[in-house]
Amino acid sequence: MRGILIVGAGQAGLHLALGLLRNGYEVTLVSNRTPDDIRDGRVMSGQAMFATALGHERALGLDLWAGDCPPIEGMQVAVAGPGGEPVIRWDARLDTPARSVDQRLKMPAWMAEVERLGGKIVIHDATVDDLESYAAQYDLVLVAAGKGQLASLFETDPERSPYRVPQRALALTYVNGLTPRPGHSAVCFNIIPGVGEYFVFPALTHTGPCEIMVFEGLPGGPMDCWSDVRTPAEHLARGRSILETFLPWEAERCDGVELTDENGVLAGRFTPVVRRPVATLPSGAPVLGVADVVVLNDPITGQGSNNAAKCAASYLAAILEHGERPFDAAWMERTFARYWENARHVTAWTNALLAPPPPHVLRILDAAGRFPEVASRFVNGFDDPADFTGWFTDPAAAEEYLTRIGG
Ligand SMILES: Cc1cc2nc3c(=O)[nH]c(=O)nc-3n(C[C@H](O)[C@H](O)[C@H](O)COP(=O)(O)OP(=O)(O)OC[C@H]3O[C@@H](n4cnc5c(N)ncnc54)[C@H](O)[C@@H]3O)c2cc1C
Repeated sequence: MRGILIVGAGQAGLHLALGLLRNGYEVTLVSNRTPDDIRDGRVMSGQAMFATALGHERALGLDLWAGDCPPIEGMQVAVAGPGGEPVIRWDARLDTPARSVDQRLKMPAWMAEVERLGGKIVIHDATVDDLESYAAQYDLVLVAAGKGQLASLFETDPERSPYRVPQRALALTYVNGLTPRPGHSAVCFNIIPGVGEYFVFPALTHTGPCEIMVFEGLPGGPMDCWSDVRTPAEHLARGRSILETFLPWEAERCDGVELTDENGVLAGRFTPVVRRPVATLPSGAPVLGVADVVVLNDPITGQGSNNAAKCAASYLAAILEHGERPFDAAWMERTFARYWENARHVTAWTNALLAPPPPHVLRILDAAGRFPEVASRFVNGFDDPADFTGWFTDPAAAEEYLTRIGG
């Protein structure tokens, strides 16, 4: 039996731990937060997940909330105009609904599942010295510590990392009482040119169904406005005032909103980065980075948890295929390359959406309002962002596609 140690009990670390346990591996998971810390702590994510990522969870029996979590059946895209009206607004259905289960609910339940399957959980804030001792004891050490300090062990890959500073001021607000949009449920994705983006979607939190509001403000702009907010109530009020100013059709839905709980708010920012997948410890031992540790994208496209599930599934397959052979640095590089083959599309598309929309993107968003095929392709690309490379992120391919469909 091969012994594998994973640092980080988040979306990727737990998914991978549970996959390995189900395949007979001996797994130790190091978490710097107890299940109670996570359950009673602050929200960390919007974690909307699309069909492929949900499928990876389902394949391991990890979709424990499929019956309770409200489905996200589609997406509505709106571009705000200067007069308080949207200049573009359309919607389309997802082929398969997306879902968002609050990580405060999911991670403690998955930690219990790790222990039920015979895995060991160590509550400890792992350091580089700890990694040395883990590397001496285990066949493989994986670092799935998200945006935590340990990620800095992994060198930035400058060719894949165009940013040196955060690209958005981020805020999350979990609420009850939001008026549902007419028709099917959706991620309502609003673009406020030169200011930022706002999206809102149904989710499941520990008090039941809720809605999650995500604010993405351009740094230094009017939506970069959270630093003086002192209380959760002020946070909610600040979010509502942004909507009243820029997105009155979204503000109208908020008449009856209240926070799900005092920890249902978050504000912060981080720099998107792609790191080299293998860190070599002072002893020379290699450790492999997982998910956000190695590919950290801005949440504008809601892909981080999806990527984490895809990374866990891809690494799990690579570990199982490798059998009894040693997990050396060359294997780690190959394992990451296999994941990056898909993740590179997510990163390219996410970075494209962070930039001011070029003419071909505006043409696509406009055409989607007139051609359901375009709207459907855009919306379903959130499940399979590799598709965007064939039309959305390439101006020539976009022109060719729009011309072909008559747009
Ligand atoms: C505002 C916002 C909105 C988002 N919305 C979405 C969305 O709608 N859809 C989507 O797919 N993604 C979204 N994301 C991104 C998503 O939450 C992350 O990408 C995803 O959780 C990454 O998974 P992970 O396993 O790599 O890291 P995490 O889930 O962050 O897990 C890392 C774990 O490691 C632990 N840890 C850290 N350091 C140590 C240490 N030294 N020792 C032990 N444990 C340690 C942490 O406590 C944590 O539990 C959003 C993120 C933000 C900030």
